[in-house]
Amino acid sequence: MRRRDFILQSALGGAAIFSGARTIAQAGPLLAAQRPSASPVAGGRGAVPLAPPDAQPPKLKIPEPSPRKIGWAIVGLGKLALENVLPAFGECKISQPVALVSGHADKARQVAKVYGIDSDAIYNYENFERLAENKRVDVVYIILPNSMHAEFTIRGCKAGKHVLCEKPMAVTVEESERMIVAAKEANRKLAIGYRLLHEPFNRRVIELCRKKEFGEIKTFSASNCQDVKAPNIRLSARLGGGPLGDVGVYCINAARYVIGEEPVEVSAFAHQPKDDPRFREVPESVAFIMRYPSGVLASCDCSFGTSESRKYRVHCAEGYIDLDPAFSYTGLRLHTKSGNAETDDTQRTELVLEPQNHFALEMDDFSGCILQNKETRTPGEMGLADMRIMAAIEEAIRSREPVHLGS
Ligand code: NDP
Repeated sequence: MRRRDFILQSALGGAAIFSGARTIAQAGPLLAAQRPSASPVAGGRGAVPLAPPDAQPPKLKIPEPSPRKIGWAIVGLGKLALENVLPAFGECKISQPVALVSGHADKARQVAKVYGIDSDAIYNYENFERLAENKRVDVVYIILPNSMHAEFTIRGCKAGKHVLCEKPMAVTVEESERMIVAAKEANRKLAIGYRLLHEPFNRRVIELCRKKEFGEIKTFSASNCQDVKAPNIRLSARLGGGPLGDVGVYCINAARYVIGEEPVEVSAFAHQPKDDPRFREVPESVAFIMRYPSGVLASCDCSFGTSESRKYRVHCAEGYIDLDPAFSYTGLRLHTKSGNAETDDTQRTELVLEPQNHFALEMDDFSGCILQNKETRTPGEMGLADMRIMAAIEEAIRSREPVHLGS
């Protein structure tokens, strides 16, 4: 190979070698032919313009003015806030972070810099009420330990802000009721962080179930299990930890949106090993069965002491629907199987959907509710309904008797 040929080939990034379609000898003429100025219009009626005459592409799309973005204050800069919620703003269309609330000023200043939040829009738990003066803040997003949800939701409403509060809504039914009253009294919206009611896989399951695509639902089974290492707010009774409120609540909430009913009776068991210091204050595992008015039975379990497993199956008269994982942030997979007979796997169909960022969907949905004054899909009342079920489950564990719910 001549030196000139070698340099030419390198400039082409080796494409000639790898495509195998052109040799080095062809490369020179090819480059010349690609130069549009060298080729007059076919038919010879003058040359095509080489560039738009006024120096901008004729079909340039000029963006419409964007709708007002709702301003969010993030309250509590822990793992969920830093690793999932704040990065998700990058995928939001109508939501932006404009304030932070944290017990650690240095961390908050660092985070504010990254997200372009004004340094004077950083608050702590003591001066939280000053948020009332910040007109850029429309919503406060409570991402604190569960024991602090009620207090900061109520203080947020009193400061005149809408509230998105993480799940579980609170620690007790009574706290949850007070949160709803506070939002009503302040004429503010209150949503609970049930992100799965916004994401496409769980929504597709809801659609399949409402259309009875596989016949009547007979039973539902769900597991939400993980391995929690100390130290962690989830292992502290004082902070409202425990597997039921942290991960079991996903099974309870999914049972509602899949079955479309409220349970009328629950029975439950918990296990709290004496030889594992992680479980001095909270159970390791909880298993519960919920009975629904139509006769559907749901059996669920949650644990802090297993490898990760987050899934559910809807057993219908003419098939089943599997979402596994069902509750994770990413990687959800949806399979269905039709027919009654136990046959091979070939009847299983995977429904492939475009995954989306759950937190971005959730935040933009709530921002949309505020902008258009619409009801949220995940109101405080839904959180309260789950709290009542969890209270019944705890009562069933204590009493070792089934517990009736509702009137
Ligand atoms: P972390 O322990 O990682 O963060 C909690 C943050 O709360 C802390 O970093 C701290 O922020 C603040 N805080 C204030 N007071 C206390 C206190 N006494 N002890 C500990 N922290 C305190 O928890 P997570 O981010 O994992 O969970 C927070 C909430 O989000 C929980 O309610 C949890 O159920 C929910 N969650 C929801 C998920 C979902 O998918 N929807 C997933 C994970 C969690 P600072 O230092 O800024 O003051």
